Amino acid sequence: MIKNLILYCITFLFCGFIYTQTNEDYVKYVNPLIGTDTSFELSNGNTYPAIARPWGMNFWTPQTGKMGDGWAYTYKSDQLVGFKQTHQPSPWINDYGAFSLMPSIGKLSVLENERKLKFNHDNEIVEPHYYSVVLDEINTKVEFTVTDRSSFFKFNFPKSENSNIIIDAFFKNSEIKVIPDENKIIGIAKNNSGGVPENFANYFVIEFNRPFKKSGVWDGRGKIISKNKLSGKHVGAYVSFDTTDNGLVEVKVSSSFISHEQAWINLYRELPKSKRFHEILAEGRKSWNNELSKIKVKAENSDYGLSNKIKFYSCFYRTILFPRQFHEYNIDGEQIHYSPYNGEILEGPLYTDNGFWDTFRAVFPFYTILYPEKLGEIMQGIMVNPYKESGWLPEWSSPGHRDCMIGSNSASIIAEAFLKGIKNFDIDVAYDGIINSSENEGPLSSVGRKGAFEYNNLGYIPFDSSINENVARTLEYAYNDFSIWKLAIELDRPKSEIELFENRANNYKNVFDSSTNFMRGKLKNGNFQSPFIPDAWGGAFTEGSSWHYTWSVLHDPQGLINLMGGRKDFVKKLDEVFTSEPTSNFSYYGFKIHEILEMELLNMGQYAHGNQPIQHAIYFYNYAQEPWKTQEKIRYVLDNLYGAEADGYCGDEDNGQTSAWFLFSSLGFYPVAPVTMEYVIGSPLFNYVEISLPNGKKFIIDSTENTNENIYVDNVKLNEKQYNKNWLHHDDLTKGGKLIFNMKNTPNFDWGSSKSSIPYSMSNE
Ligand code: CA
Repeated sequence: MIKNLILYCITFLFCGFIYTQTNEDYVKYVNPLIGTDTSFELSNGNTYPAIARPWGMNFWTPQTGKMGDGWAYTYKSDQLVGFKQTHQPSPWINDYGAFSLMPSIGKLSVLENERKLKFNHDNEIVEPHYYSVVLDEINTKVEFTVTDRSSFFKFNFPKSENSNIIIDAFFKNSEIKVIPDENKIIGIAKNNSGGVPENFANYFVIEFNRPFKKSGVWDGRGKIISKNKLSGKHVGAYVSFDTTDNGLVEVKVSSSFISHEQAWINLYRELPKSKRFHEILAEGRKSWNNELSKIKVKAENSDYGLSNKIKFYSCFYRTILFPRQFHEYNIDGEQIHYSPYNGEILEGPLYTDNGFWDTFRAVFPFYTILYPEKLGEIMQGIMVNPYKESGWLPEWSSPGHRDCMIGSNSASIIAEAFLKGIKNFDIDVAYDGIINSSENEGPLSSVGRKGAFEYNNLGYIPFDSSINENVARTLEYAYNDFSIWKLAIELDRPKSEIELFENRANNYKNVFDSSTNFMRGKLKNGNFQSPFIPDAWGGAFTEGSSWHYTWSVLHDPQGLINLMGGRKDFVKKLDEVFTSEPTSNFSYYGFKIHEILEMELLNMGQYAHGNQPIQHAIYFYNYAQEPWKTQEKIRYVLDNLYGAEADGYCGDEDNGQTSAWFLFSSLGFYPVAPVTMEYVIGSPLFNYVEISLPNGKKFIIDSTENTNENIYVDNVKLNEKQYNKNWLHHDDLTKGGKLIFNMKNTPNFDWGSSKSSIPYSMSNE
């Protein structure tokens, strides 16, 4: 009997263990407030809490700032002005198609600066799919949960004869219509920040669960008008309820970029009448757990371990928010989209809100591992369809082409996906778009290639041309040409075409100055620009100086080593990045841009993790056979430059890029040059990681001895065999397997440091 009981207990405990193992809630580790303690002058992420489903069409955020100022929600604010449907990818790109809801009690004050109410973080719950807050001044609790396109609100009012909800359709032209007989409001928000056709509009629909006591509309000066309909530069509406007996008002909201009719389809499909709030809430949690559980990490049982888990799953959340789906499903369930490129309603997927200058580095590589099937649809929706609809591949879309940043990094993203076996998109159209971009300047400086003529003829863009940021463009085009070269071989293009891009991939050599071992502006006559100021930001470079861009040779670090005079000189130069004073010359901008201030605060010399150009360079020690220096610095960044609190990023988060850097680096490797199919090994953060691959296989990363002191790789085993390469191949990862890191607290100068250990370089091919 006792024996049976013991057996029973053991069985029960074991089952309990298995249960918690497979059903662990990862959502609880996500802190959407990371990156919100931020400002124009200093970015600790420049994020807002995006209450959303993964890749959702519509996000929602509590709003503390003024609509249109870019900083929608800042942690230090103590007042809320509304709950806003937002599509903003970054404060620098700003919002479009936004509208908001806000409760009030008694007398109506509808404008943003009049309706705002105090709140504090103690009364706030913030999860990826759920938000709630108590507004003490009106004794009202607001909570909402979301689906891909819709949201479900509960306003819990106190006893009052006039409990109001204010709807703001915002500026830059809007329309509103109250339908009291049906407890509904419909509206149109036309606000946008550029890049869209004249007919751009967000058609929103709102359904309340009870009749209005009163309702009306208001204009941009805040004047209440007893009508049911209004259009103008800035309009809104209000509805009032008698909540003396029942304080709860439930509100369902949805929208469409196509029509009101489509918005109702979106609403009733995602929030069917039969479903209650708690069911949608549970579905939201499940949708996030489905994704987050694809990588299970185990950390040591300590504050350090917990903080690392929060950092990891919060970064995971940020990495799968963007690019957002912009398409919708019609009454027959067919995928259709409003084209932000030509204004038509067309078939097929559309994805947007992404700056490829940032995300080609690690976000898209992350998708190639976990989401190959979805990535094919994203390629069709973010590359192929935009090219068909506008004649250009996007580089920064939100939702149409936006003029921001440089490069033609769409080439890297497309080539990487195709070379990694992702074939469910129209590669011929995409390749056509790549060639088009490589030969032409676009309608905006960020689209096509600004300086294409000079670059293709001279092999670099001269400093004394009218084209700004010419060295940065030359370097990025050269890596993009490497990507095209690899893709052209795969597609069996003509030999002359293949050779053309092979040659152009070497163009980075044209802006290297061996007298200083820096990348440097070059004149039309072939002389270097003078005087040369290595720490001058902008000018020949983009949001960085030569200190950062000198390493922008992702595809050929060996070539750069050769240019610098060999391995020793290369390491010396790379060491100097981290040991130099963080000086800067910012005369190009006329003021100290936030990226410079962020570099100064890091205590890592000229290394500027807060911006993208140099984020890969720590891994360059592996190419120079000194991988222990990579390991040491990677762990410093993981431990010190990422946090679990609202100030947790050391610069702009940028649509998942800075987060994806953490995801990869904490797993123990990073895609320095995505198109090469390789991941360069650093120092894993967790004791145990299980990656569930889409083919049903698992990839295990085991580093049991790992602690915050045992940061150096002593030796590695891949699938039980000693492994001395300091990089991994994509195929070794995706076919499943086990990678064991033995870690220790002092460097092992032998592991991964031989000539045969180093990752791919074009010069070694
Ligand atoms: Ca950036």
